[in-house]
Amino acid sequence: MSNLLVNTRDQRFVLYEQIGVEKLFAYPQYADFSMDMVDMVLNEAEKFAVEEIMPTYETADKEDPAVFKDGQGHAPKCFHEPFKKICEAGWFAPTFPVEYGGQGMPRTLHTSISEMFGAANYAFMMYVGLTVGAAGLILEYGTEEQINKYVYKMCEGTWAGTMCLTEPGAGSDVGASRASAKRLPDGTYSITGTKCFISSGDHDLTENIVHPVLARIEGDPPGTKGISIFIVPKYRVNDDGSLGEFNDVVTGNLEHKMGIKGSATATLNFGENGNCIGELLGEERQGMKIMFKMMNEARLGTGMQGLDHASAALEHSIQYSKERIQSRDMLSGSPEGVPIIRHPDIRRSLLWMKSHVEGMRSMNYWTGYCIDMSEIAETEDERERWKGFVDLITPVIKAYCSDKGVEICGLAMDVYGGYGYCQEYPVEQYMRDAKIATIYEGTNTIQALDLVFRKLAQRKGQNAMNLFSEMNATVEQCKAIDALKDSAELYAQSVNALGDMFMQIGNWLQGGEYVIPLINVRVFLMIMGDVITGWRLMDAAVIASRKLDELFKEAGADTPEKQKELGKNDSDVAFYMGKVASAKFFAANILTAVEGRCKALKVGDKTPMEVMDESFTV
Ligand SMILES: Cc1cc2nc3c(=O)[nH]c(=O)nc-3n(C[C@H](O)[C@H](O)[C@H](O)COP(=O)(O)OP(=O)(O)OC[C@H]3O[C@@H](n4cnc5c(N)ncnc54)[C@H](O)[C@@H]3O)c2cc1C
Repeated sequence: MSNLLVNTRDQRFVLYEQIGVEKLFAYPQYADFSMDMVDMVLNEAEKFAVEEIMPTYETADKEDPAVFKDGQGHAPKCFHEPFKKICEAGWFAPTFPVEYGGQGMPRTLHTSISEMFGAANYAFMMYVGLTVGAAGLILEYGTEEQINKYVYKMCEGTWAGTMCLTEPGAGSDVGASRASAKRLPDGTYSITGTKCFISSGDHDLTENIVHPVLARIEGDPPGTKGISIFIVPKYRVNDDGSLGEFNDVVTGNLEHKMGIKGSATATLNFGENGNCIGELLGEERQGMKIMFKMMNEARLGTGMQGLDHASAALEHSIQYSKERIQSRDMLSGSPEGVPIIRHPDIRRSLLWMKSHVEGMRSMNYWTGYCIDMSEIAETEDERERWKGFVDLITPVIKAYCSDKGVEICGLAMDVYGGYGYCQEYPVEQYMRDAKIATIYEGTNTIQALDLVFRKLAQRKGQNAMNLFSEMNATVEQCKAIDALKDSAELYAQSVNALGDMFMQIGNWLQGGEYVIPLINVRVFLMIMGDVITGWRLMDAAVIASRKLDELFKEAGADTPEKQKELGKNDSDVAFYMGKVASAKFFAANILTAVEGRCKALKVGDKTPMEVMDESFTV
């Protein structure tokens, strides 16, 4: 029986069979973990997601959203109980070291838990995610005193956290920030300025909220180079750790949004009365570098948001398509109405969604594994190699998974027909909730600019080269499997086309041609996302094909008919056949288009820059 959020069989496939999470347990850092423990964690996470978090999903959207009342932000009332329970159950900061109240859990495993929780209610999980992100920042860059003062309370969920970058005049252009900091004689800083759109900016789930705030110290240079970062609590903290006076962080309002209505998105006015004190985090003028640690984590989290909503939308639409009876089967000509899953176009939509969700899941979990390996691999070279994958893939995950998340939710709505557009079913909410992920944490265009103008060339292109060698190794494995030969050819062509495009971009940039890459950054990112998704699916299909060979042999199923018959009674056979189908479909329908899309980019069309502003009219 599906939990209607995430396919737990596929989660286990990716973790156990594709990535091999147990490889991590050979390292001293994760020696305390075992596969039994992983299985237990996954079962418990599913239970917690379904029983505690999921029931808040519709309520916090329709009857009980975050509200601004009496000058304060309030989280949905229905969030209070699960928030308490998530802290008590130890789910709040599992990747944190044990001494800070975490479980020292590998990131690979945590990614699967966060998919489950995020699919149950992403808006609820934002309060947790931002707190853990802000605590991580203080843990890495704070003084011992700051760590003792803030991190413990944040990791146990007593105090919450945020990230404060955006201002009315500084959105994508963070360097335009006007928030300012003035040195005080005691070494602290007086903070003034307005930050807008701050997620979890003000709420009543915790007794205090700790804001990492970007601001410019008076006299420091303009742009991002002059920005520092400060720890600014809503209530000051006394030396003994108790709460002191209000720190002049005044909430202007909460936004009324299209989706994630349970998340309190606040405008915060710092130092309206000249009485807001901040502590410097790290060194002066290092604010952007420090905040990037949290931003990169949050970008991966935002990519996961796309996957979370897409996964839940897929699970729901598979269930609906098996229940909804409409129209006759045009192929069999039977006069009876059939479940809509019998219609070829619905099947195509479901397979489109399924293949993307599975590929994105694998991409996200693999990135979790890369993070773990970048910390625990034995040699510096190896750690660099793993970190290189993370650096390169972060903007792709953020932008590709969030864009695809919206597309998948849209297709799910089509599967539901008119009912999908109505509030009676959850897919319209999935679609509304998914959209923000393409915008916040740096719009998808900003991600694509980061990819094309920074990440591709990082370490002289070595990170990208390493990714290509991984993808090419999979080509060879696929070619060796009869059932995958045709798909392997299509996949190989897409990898080659991406490689050529990568060289072409390098040539453009080296030749001083910036306009074409600038116009097409998003197109390139999506092509790259498709090829990486294709890689993860083909890699999965190799494993699934080998498993199927064994299972067919054991059962003596030596014809396609017998194999299908076996699949009807054996859920493992059906699952592995589904994995092969996902890869074949993706290769035939998505990867085949890669070459053409690259060809279109190479035409070098500059019309968007040549057309006059006036020609757009208005
Ligand atoms: C619900 C919600 C929650 C949020 N949570 C937070 C939070 O917790 N903390 C926080 O600090 N911020 C938060 N934000 C702010 C969010 O990160 C910004 O909205 C986002 O970065 C874009 O900034 P902007 O809205 O000012 O758009 P703008 O920067 O004005 O961009 C408008 C358009 O122009 C494009 N554009 C801008 N510059 C360029 C360029 N150089 N090249 C090409 N195109 C460009 C953008 O891609 C976009 O399409 C949140 C926003 C929302 C809506």
